[in-house]
This record gives sequence, C-alpha cells and structure tokens, in this order.
Amino acid sequence: MMTVRTTCPYCGVGCGVKATPMAHGAIIEGDPDHMANRGRLCVKGAALGETLDLDGRLLAPAIRDEQGLREAGWDEALAKVASTFAAIVAEHGPDAVALYVSGQLLTEDYYVANKFMKGFIGSANIDTNSRLCMSSSVAGHKRAFGEDLVPGCYEDFELADLIVLVGSNAAWCHPTLFQRIAKARELRPHLRIVAIDPRRTATCESADLHLPIKPGTDVWLFNGLLAYLAHSGAVDSAFIDAHTNGLEAALEAAGECASIEFVARHCGIDPRLLVEFYELFAASDKVVTAFSQGVNQSTSGTDKVNAIINCHLVTGRIGKPGMGPFSLTGQPNAMGGREVGGLANMLAAHLELDQPAHRELVRTFWDAPRIAARPGLKAVEMFRAIEEGGIKAVWIMATNPVASLPDADQVRRALARCELVVVSDMSAATDTAAHAHVLLPALGWGEKDGTVTNSERCISRQRAFLDAPGQARADWWALCQVARRMGFHGFDYRDAHAIFGEHARLSAWRNDETGVPRAFRIDGLAGLSRAGYDGLAPIQWPVGAAGEGSARLFTDGRYAHADGKARFVATVPRAPANPADRAYPIVLNTGRLRDQWHTMTRTGKSPRLANHAPEPCVDLHPHDALLAGVREGELARVSSRWGAMVARVSHGGGIARGSAFIPIHWTGQNASDARVGAVVNPAVDPVSGEPEFKHTPVRIEPFAVA
Ligand code: SF4
Repeated sequence: MMTVRTTCPYCGVGCGVKATPMAHGAIIEGDPDHMANRGRLCVKGAALGETLDLDGRLLAPAIRDEQGLREAGWDEALAKVASTFAAIVAEHGPDAVALYVSGQLLTEDYYVANKFMKGFIGSANIDTNSRLCMSSSVAGHKRAFGEDLVPGCYEDFELADLIVLVGSNAAWCHPTLFQRIAKARELRPHLRIVAIDPRRTATCESADLHLPIKPGTDVWLFNGLLAYLAHSGAVDSAFIDAHTNGLEAALEAAGECASIEFVARHCGIDPRLLVEFYELFAASDKVVTAFSQGVNQSTSGTDKVNAIINCHLVTGRIGKPGMGPFSLTGQPNAMGGREVGGLANMLAAHLELDQPAHRELVRTFWDAPRIAARPGLKAVEMFRAIEEGGIKAVWIMATNPVASLPDADQVRRALARCELVVVSDMSAATDTAAHAHVLLPALGWGEKDGTVTNSERCISRQRAFLDAPGQARADWWALCQVARRMGFHGFDYRDAHAIFGEHARLSAWRNDETGVPRAFRIDGLAGLSRAGYDGLAPIQWPVGAAGEGSARLFTDGRYAHADGKARFVATVPRAPANPADRAYPIVLNTGRLRDQWHTMTRTGKSPRLANHAPEPCVDLHPHDALLAGVREGELARVSSRWGAMVARVSHGGGIARGSAFIPIHWTGQNASDARVGAVVNPAVDPVSGEPEFKHTPVRIEPFAVA
C-alpha cells in the first residue's frame, strides 16, 4: 500500500498526516516532516481512518420534485442549476443569487467559487462559514496592518516567555499546538501561560494564571493593559515613533481603564489577578497573545482584536521571534479562503472590493465580463435576504447553516421559501440538505486534491489517496460545469493544479504589473509544474520569486498601510448586544468539544470519539441549576428569544454562576432537535459581521418528556 502525505481536515493548526489506505479505512500517522505538528496528532486526527466508510454518503446527484427526492444524472442536475441561476439573474439581477461556502473547501474550490460569483455572475453575494469564526480577526488585521496578515508562526509559541491565550481553549480546539506549548514549557521552565476565559477550561487548568473574565468584556481588560503599559513606562518609544500611528487616540479611548478597580469591576476579575497579569505582560521580553473564537465571536470582536494588537504595538512586540498577536483560525482552510477573497467584502489576492482600481485589476486578469460593484451580503444578512425574497437561489457548499448559523430557525424558514436551494455535500442527511432542490455529491477528505492554508500561513497539500466514490466530484468541477453551461469562459481547468497556478499568477501579476503591492504573494509557486504541485512541501507565504517561504512578517517594521506604519485603533468598550434580564437570566456560551468537529458529519462516525461526550449537555453552575429546578443528569429546556432546544444538565465544564455552555455539534438530525444555533442570538459585529455566539441570554427550565 502506498503512503500519501496529506493534511488533516479539521482545525486550523493544519497538521501533516501520513495516510496508508487499507481495505476498510486507512492507517493514519502524524507527518514528522510537517512544520505544523512534527509528527503529532490529536485524538480527532488520529481517528481519521475510522471515518472513511461510505455510510450515509451522497453518491449521486439528486433532484427534488413533486414526488420527492429522486436520483438524477450530473447533466440534468447541472443543467437545472445553470438554467435557474441564469433565469433569475436575467430577471432580477446578479444580486438575486448567492453562494454560501465553507472553510472546509480547498483553496482551489474557493478560488473558482469566487471567480464565478464576483467576476462572471457579477455579485459579491458569496460568503462563507468562516464569517462565523475569524472574520473579526480579518477586520482587525486590516485596520491595524493594512492587510489581513497573521504576523507570526507556531515556533513563536516555543520561543516566548509568556503566552496569553484569550478566548481560546487551545488544549481542546488546537491540540497539537498546545502539545508544542506543553513541550516548550518542559524545556524552558520560565515560560508562563495566562488563560483569559469565562470558563475554567482544560487550557485554564494548565495555565499559570487564569483570569475568569465576565463574558464580552475583553476590550476593558486590554484597554486597561494598554493604559498600564503606557503609565508604567513599559513601552518601546523608538518602535512607536518609527512604525506606528494613532497611539494618543487609543490611549484616550482607554482613559477610564487606567483604573485597575474600574477594569476589575467591569471584567468581574479580582484586582490582584489583574495586576499580576499586567505586571507579567510588562515584564516579559517575549510575549505571544493568541486569540480565538472567544474574542472573534462577539459584537465587539473587531475591537477586541485591535485592543490586543494595540498592546503588542505599544511594546514593539511584533515581527520578532517569540512575540506577536496571533489569531488561531478555527477551520482547516479559513486562511486559504481569505487568500482568494472568500468573504463577501473581499476580492482575490488580498484585494479590496470597495476599491475601483482593485476591482478593475481582478476583472482584467480574469477577462471577466463584469465584476461585483460592491461588497455582498455577509452570512447572517444573506439568509435574511433569502427569507425576504431578495435572494431567490442559493448554492450551499460543505456547510450546514440550518444547524450552525445563529437564529437557525430563521435559516430554516429562509430555505423553505427559496426558489432554488442547491447543496453540495458528502452527506444527504444534514439539516440543510433536507431543504435542497438539487443535491450534488462532493468529494471528501482523502478523495479530493488541492491545498489548504493554516493559521501560520502554511500552504499544505491535501492529496487524494482513495478513489472517488459513486459519482462524487470535486466542488471546483461542479462550479466550472455550471459556469460553462451559463456561457462563461475561463472555467476549463483540467485539474486542481491548473487552478492553483492561476491563483498564484494573480498574486504575482498584481504586484509586478499593476503597482498594487500586498504582502500576500506566492510568486514562487506560480510556475509550478504538475509534478512540482504534486510534490509541493508545506511552505509559508509570502513566497518570493525564488520560491522561499517566510516564517514571520513585519521583520523590517513595514506594514501594508500606504505610509508603511501600523495603526493603533481607538477601541471604546461596549457591552454585548443582548444583556441578560429577568426573563432570560443566564448567559449562554457555545463552542467546540475536544473530540467532535462541526456538525459531526465525519467525527460522528467514530465510536471512540463519541465516547467523550455521547449527547448534548448544557453545563450549568449548581447554584443556577438549583434556581432553575433542574438537577445534574436531567433534561432541561434551554430557550432564548430566538428559539429553544433540549439538553442534559451537567455541572462539568468549569462554568461560572450566571453562565451556561452548550457545544455546537449536535443537529436537528439527532433524536431530539439539538441545534444550539436555534437558540443563539443573531447580533453581529458592526465591522466584521461576525455573530455573537458567546453571549445569548437564555432561560433554563425542567423538560418533561410528553
Ligand atoms: Fe487535526 Fe487540528 Fe488535531 Fe492537528 S490538532 S490533528 S489539525 S484536529
């Protein structure tokens, strides 16, 4: 049997995997040569071989008509999608159709989807489930650095003196990176870890200091840190003068937070713990501040990101080994999607939709008949527009919004009234597939071929090692087939290599020919031969013309703003959109479990992964459970102003009084409808459009089985 080097399809760490196909599944090992994991795997990655069977797979296209769902050939299904899209665009304009895609797609799929919508349909109504996990980081990076750039690399965690983990349960959600941190701590005992999280998670248990912050108050905490650093003189004045703008305004916005008591009161943290953290941050030479969904999934998400970056800029701790702000992406290819303009407000190659010169540049490169004239609708807005009738056809790829978007019952209503719902997926048994008029069978991990980019900007190959099952095809292929049936040119790619080459050439052409320099470039990969692409070793962008990668950005102190300087952003603290009240007194937080991934389409196949948490639980403090009249092990109804679900009461999860936690993985396909998305409020960050998954007021009541 031949062993193939590929990349794990789950979290944003992007571990290298060696897969050896067997009669039933595959032998899975960590790739010792991959820079992300150096041979390590977490329990999810190690169980990949148990998830490769064809149970529940969608193996042929299907069309729903008056009699129900029936199998159809590719020709009929593609013709229906193309003709309906074309008719709707002709009658109602390009903004009447939409694509909703996923961080599970490969970069090549993402590239073609964006070219199809933005360059040929002529609408930017293409958004992604990455909107739900890291769009606040994208917006924060752009405000601070002028471009969406993660400055550092995983090695920085091993070189740091202090690692601050904010809203990140890395021990469960980015496990091999956390293993690297644990190993670094053994080798360098002075390394300190501070965890900032409302829950006492597995990550907090391992930390030297846990700040149990009140949900949603991170801007107060980091504004307080900025003020503390400034007033205690722990700043790098030379760096600030040479490489930044805007410190005075940021300090003014942080004004009240100069008082430790004020910050401690707002954040619900013991002032002594706060001072301990501030002193540690000020005194440590090398600091990495890593943040994840606890920061991003907030109506202040973008400000939280900038409040963190401000503290690194004021100390000059960026662009150097062992230091920097670090956004931990959730999905395997959230970063790759950003490279090709995977969000409704972006263009390919890190160009901007709201800049005419950038639009013309991409239109010319694609030889496209038109280009989207303005940013499209972001995820939550998109499904509202579907319900209101503005969008009449939607193509959903590799994601399950009826379970995973906030106010998920609204998404269900939207799809129920949409004229055409196309779903490309591996499975026909998702909440979203139940609404499809056309189902298209997609290749899954181990079957598809392309690239992904992880949190440290490392481009890795996902390689096929299994035959395509049934009639399943690559997502880029289905998009090209529809595009060609709509009369569009430029969609005749032979394979993923041809798409990657075009993507790489766009980044090179943009910088060299048009005078729109961006740090994202992969020039050195533009001329890769088929064999070179097949054998591509993991490499971090920017990749220069000579083919060399880059571990760190900003080493020369130059940023992507026109004046070459980074920006402090004045961040004014504000409370979450929907406060708890008498009717809904508990603040619901949602997130991932250690052993499951998204809505369990793949991880749900492994019994040993299911053992960790066999059913959905609501973690409650015993005091709140008592007040609600529920006991540990009993079923409870969890309701908000948007919807309700049932879960079993648990006192695990290190939950504080007044809070609850429910994992995101269960769906309406389970015995009872266990979609926590139905409960979550749909408020979004005004800058990034990212929903506030971490703060929904709910009521807990006993649930009686009828
Ligand atoms: Fe996969 Fe993430 Fe686990 Fe690595 S840490 S094996 S990428 S789930």
